[in-house]
Amino acid sequence: MCGIIGYVGRELCIPKIIHGLQSLEYRGYDSAGIAYISKGKIKTIKEKGKIINLEKLLNFDEEAYLGIGHTRWATHGVANKINAHPHSVGKFTIVHNGIIENYNELKEELINKGYNFKSETDTEIACAKIDEIYKQEKDILKTLSKATKVFRGSYALGIICIDEPNSLYAIRNTSPLIVAKSNEGNFIASDVPAILKFTNKYFLLDDLEIAKITMDKVTFYNQDLIPIDKNINTFEGSVEVALKNGYEHFMLKEINEQDKVFKDTINYYFDGTIDSLKKNFKFLDKYKKIDIVACGSAYHTGCVGKYLIENYGNIPVNVEVASEYRYKKCFYDKDTLVIVVSQSGETADTLAALKKAKNDKIDTLAIVNVIGSSIARIADKVIYIKAGCEIAVATTKAYLAQLAIFSLISIYLGYKSKEIKDEELYKIFKEIKQMPKLIKNTINNYESYFAIADKIYKNKQIFFIGRGIDYATSLEASLKLKEISYINSVAYQAGELKHGTISLIEKNTPVIAIATDKNLFEKTISNIKEVKARGAYVILISNEVIKEQLCDEFIKIDDVHPILESILTIIPLQLLAYKVAKNNKCDIDKPRNLAKSVTVE
Ligand code: GLU
Repeated sequence: MCGIIGYVGRELCIPKIIHGLQSLEYRGYDSAGIAYISKGKIKTIKEKGKIINLEKLLNFDEEAYLGIGHTRWATHGVANKINAHPHSVGKFTIVHNGIIENYNELKEELINKGYNFKSETDTEIACAKIDEIYKQEKDILKTLSKATKVFRGSYALGIICIDEPNSLYAIRNTSPLIVAKSNEGNFIASDVPAILKFTNKYFLLDDLEIAKITMDKVTFYNQDLIPIDKNINTFEGSVEVALKNGYEHFMLKEINEQDKVFKDTINYYFDGTIDSLKKNFKFLDKYKKIDIVACGSAYHTGCVGKYLIENYGNIPVNVEVASEYRYKKCFYDKDTLVIVVSQSGETADTLAALKKAKNDKIDTLAIVNVIGSSIARIADKVIYIKAGCEIAVATTKAYLAQLAIFSLISIYLGYKSKEIKDEELYKIFKEIKQMPKLIKNTINNYESYFAIADKIYKNKQIFFIGRGIDYATSLEASLKLKEISYINSVAYQAGELKHGTISLIEKNTPVIAIATDKNLFEKTISNIKEVKARGAYVILISNEVIKEQLCDEFIKIDDVHPILESILTIIPLQLLAYKVAKNNKCDIDKPRNLAKSVTVE
């Protein structure tokens, strides 16, 4: 994954590069480094760990006007100073996001030609290959054009060469990269927040394109060095999105934005009438099968989506993890729609699954947050969620917005299939209007969830159980908890526990049971009794009023239509995970080993 930034202009580059890296730190934080040109020489400074460690080594007033920076999420080689970027070989210094898949082949060839390597990274090999090509071509553009024909895999590269101390170059394939323009100079970056303090005008570099950036000019070329004209984009959001607004963590801020995110996402596609849903979702009419493909939390929204679309739309849905789907035999045909879900729109495995479906001429729909992202550009149709910029690595508001889209799709399909009749439809419409208030109320009850978190945060493992759609929510709740608190957590279909896993339940093992599906409520209650009889500490989340003493803790959520209920159910569980992680003094916004948008395979 990693974040890269580069600047060339009239102002000092180090403060700008460090600011950019700070806003990209969500993409990786194993190590950070910077290289800049000062007094005709390339200087490189790097350090293990977060950007703050690097900052301590820098002179922010150093007379340097061109530089590149990197914050790493290691794929090749451990997180140490030697493997940290930038990497230099010969006349070149580069930063890299992605994986050069044929690096081993290239390495052998380069060693035979006399190159030595210090690091374990694929990036250093790429840098050497560029240097080697340059020795023959003696021209940077020609060199980079050739490099794009040699490198396999994913890369966004920021490149500087001592022979051209006033130019910055970039190439990309699959990994994201923007080129931004400002009056004081020009930038390259992995993502928009990195440059927002300086400019909101940027270009999107496409796969296999080359950019040459100088103080006053940016020029783009295709792989064969034919110049390309590009449209400039203007980012409409404000810089404030990248600030915490008084919240202790981005995650907490983002959880608190969910009522607005729900409203913004819904209002974009639904004006209170079935006609608006018809207008936006009519294209779904022709499909008899749906494959939903995603990773991580987005996969979990797909699990909720499957349940809703099958139940209300009467269409069979297959949900698959993208890293598996991209390599498996797929049984799709012209009646199948492949829906890919990704917050960033850059998730490498999801992007590859999308490309596979497109190659096989299968219709595709993307549900994404980031406008103009790779997935959004490639899919046949795009539905944007309106979550705004999400900084915390653990997703909350983007997850909720993805659920909102699946709700709308299911309402439309349910009405069309006549599973949802007029009366029920109007009841749902009424509830949609109330949802922002209900979401806010659910968030505002945080103290009761925090009190439960205080009781369980020292446990070594925590189970989640649920049936049907509640199992899908359990998967997400369990992931949220483990990714930020590092507590081992497993989600189980409530009825499946007794087929093995129940042996792990002992006295006071927390079991968080989700029971909102009225048809399955009693069945889940039986499973709760089974774990309770074995000493479990049961926390029950339900929209039912509980009369008997079933559990140790009870979280009551508002009772809304099943098409909307999982949107409310996840909120207490996000807040519970947050508080458990906080009590354990974990780095909530930047959990260890993780990064926000997974742009490597
Ligand atoms: N493959 C490179 C490395 O391990 C870059 C990884 C990244 O995208 O952060 O250093």
